[in-house]
Order: sequence, then structure tokens, then C-alpha cells
Amino acid sequence: MCSETSLNESLLKARMLVDGIRIADSAYEGVGQQFKEQVHHLFEYDFDLHQTRACPAEMRLPGGTVVQVRLNERSPFLVRRQGEVLRVEEGSNEVARVEWLERPAFYDLKTSAGTPMTSIAELVGDDCIAVSHTNACVLFADGSQCGFCNLNFTPKQYDEVRIKKKAAEVGEVFGAAFGSGVANHFEITGGILPGNREIMILEQYLTSIRDATGLTDLPGTAIMTPPEDLSDLEKLQRLGIRGLGFNLECFNPAYFRAVCPGKEQQIGYEKYREAQRAAVDIFGAGGRIYSGFVAGVEPMEDLLHGVRELAEEGIASIPLVWSPSSGTRFHRHRPPSGEWYVELAERASALMIRHLRRDAGKPRPIPTRCTGCQTQCLLQDVIQSRLHSLQTLTAGG
Ligand code: SF4
Repeated sequence: MCSETSLNESLLKARMLVDGIRIADSAYEGVGQQFKEQVHHLFEYDFDLHQTRACPAEMRLPGGTVVQVRLNERSPFLVRRQGEVLRVEEGSNEVARVEWLERPAFYDLKTSAGTPMTSIAELVGDDCIAVSHTNACVLFADGSQCGFCNLNFTPKQYDEVRIKKKAAEVGEVFGAAFGSGVANHFEITGGILPGNREIMILEQYLTSIRDATGLTDLPGTAIMTPPEDLSDLEKLQRLGIRGLGFNLECFNPAYFRAVCPGKEQQIGYEKYREAQRAAVDIFGAGGRIYSGFVAGVEPMEDLLHGVRELAEEGIASIPLVWSPSSGTRFHRHRPPSGEWYVELAERASALMIRHLRRDAGKPRPIPTRCTGCQTQCLLQDVIQSRLHSLQTLTAGG
């Protein structure tokens, strides 16, 4: 079992992701200067838009747990500054003291073409540099976008990111982030593109990242659409990227069809599963290949059935706490409770430790993820805590 402290932090994290937070004026001090602001490199996760004010990106709880900030004017949680201290209050009770995360120095830099680096990529959590190759998805054209997604909506609210990013500029930003030591892994993602252009873009990005960072074993992943020819995945493996994600979002195919109608029409559930298996053959098992899930949309037992089935195939699951945020078809729906998410993380982590850790022969069942970057997911926190308990027991025995 998790220690009581980590369980309490996991529950508070889950509740602040489910309900969001309010932020008092005093607590905005230093955001965008000393503390890292939101950049919206992908989605808007806030319940309420905030175009006129920089909002903190993440907060750290006393035990080290990192939590994505989701603004919600109806939240029971209020973050307030009292002197040097940021307090989270629920009603009249202080439930935690938190810190905003430090702003990285490369947020003030520009590329050689004069583009602000924050309009290319974002540092997620402590250490993961993330870029969307395209902040637009073809599925919005006919309204068949996934129900939880606001990819095309978000850049229209915030004039922050380039919709398309040149490979050379991505390389420069990654070079600055890795070179200054703030990033130690990365994620590339983006909307579905017409035709089969994604593989070509990813090849260009990875080549540029190799050149800029000097790395040949690339510590990152790409979340992508299954290419028509699955052998194209070998091109990415040859360029040194460690893992790939093919997001099912819901494991039950009926939920997949209902929540992601465009993905079903254009690609199909089975093609996602084929791509996951083909990628395991190329990259190996042990969690290098994974699926993201928008947890809370389908019943817990359906999702856990998926976590088990995927883990038995060497594939990791990343169940994110669903945000029914602005600009999505599901805006202001209700996700399940914080307790629901803690139970899911406990049960999913047990399955993944059992299957993936054994396959990997490595200490972590998701080699491409860490607690510092999983700001909207409890799983890695719970896995870390469980592994720590196991090590303590082993050492004690
Ligand atoms: S595939 Fe779905 S989640 Fe991904 S960008 Fe398109 S609509 Fe959004």
C-alpha cells in the first residue's frame, strides 16, 4: 500500500484536478516572471478562460507531488498568498501549502528566426519539454473531434503558439532546454493531419533534435496517429526515439466510437491496436509503447480490463484525470470523484507493476514517464510509492 502521506497527496491531487482551483489575486504575484505560466502548447485544461492574465502552470505539494493547475471559478479550493506562503484552503480549512513551479530561463529566449521559444514548446512539470507539431486537427472540420478535445479552439483564445512549427526551430528550443539542464525527456504530439505527413514531420523533428542536443538515444516519445504502413514506425526507431503512444482514449470499443467518432471513421479502433502491437515488435515491450486514456468517461472496470490486456502485451496505460474544459463538446460535464481516481490508480499500478516491470527488467514500468511530468495523472506517483514500499520491504527482509 501507499504510505499515508502519498495517499493523502494523491487524493488531494485528484480532487484539485477534478474540481480545479480558484486563485486569489495575491497568489498571482511572480507568475510569468519567477514562476512558470501556462503556455497552452496543446489543450486548454482550465474550466474558465483567462486571456487577460497569465495563470500558473503547475503547483507542487509538500511531499513533492506535482499538480496541473485547472482554473475553475466554482472550485471549493482557493489558493491564497499569506506572506511568503501559498495556502490551499477549502472553506475555512488550510488543506496544504504549495509552491508554483520555477520558470525556466529558456522561456525568455527566441530562436535565431526571432520566434519566442514559448510559442514553439512548453516545459511540462519539472522536466519534460513538449511540442505539438500542429495545433489543429482535421477532425474539427466536420465536428467529429473527440468529445474531450479543444485543440483547434485553444489557439484562438490565446495568441501564444505557432500552429505549425519548423523542425529547425524545434531543434533550437530543445537544444536550449536540454542544454540548460531543465529538460531531461520530451514528448511530441499534435492533431491528425491529412494524408500521411506525420511520419515525415516526426523524422524531421527527431533529426533536428539529434543535431541540436547531440543525443543519439532520444529520451522521449511521440503520441501519434497509426500510419497506413506500420513498417514506417521503424524509421522512428532508427532515429533513436525511445517510445510511442497510440491513444485509445477509451478501451471499450463502444465508448471509443461514441467519444472519438472521427478517430473511428478515419482510422478505426482495430488499427490503433494493430499499431500498438506492431510498435512493441519494433521497440520492445516493457511500457515503451503506451496508450493514453481519458479516465472517467467509461466505467472503471472497462478501463482496468484494458490496462490488464495491454500490460500483458507489454503496453503501458496512462489514465489522465479528465478535464471537461472550455471549448470541448463535454464542457462542464462532471468527471468522477477524486476517490474514484485514486482507486483507479491503485488498481492500475498493481497491474502494471506485475506485468510491465517483469517484462522490462527495469525499475520503472513506464520507462518514458516520471512523477515530475505527470501533472494530470496519478499513476506514476502511485507506482513510485509502491515500488519504494517494495524496495523497503525487500531491504528489510
Ligand atoms: S484526434 Fe481527437 S484528441 Fe487528437 S487532436 Fe484530434 S480531436 Fe483532438
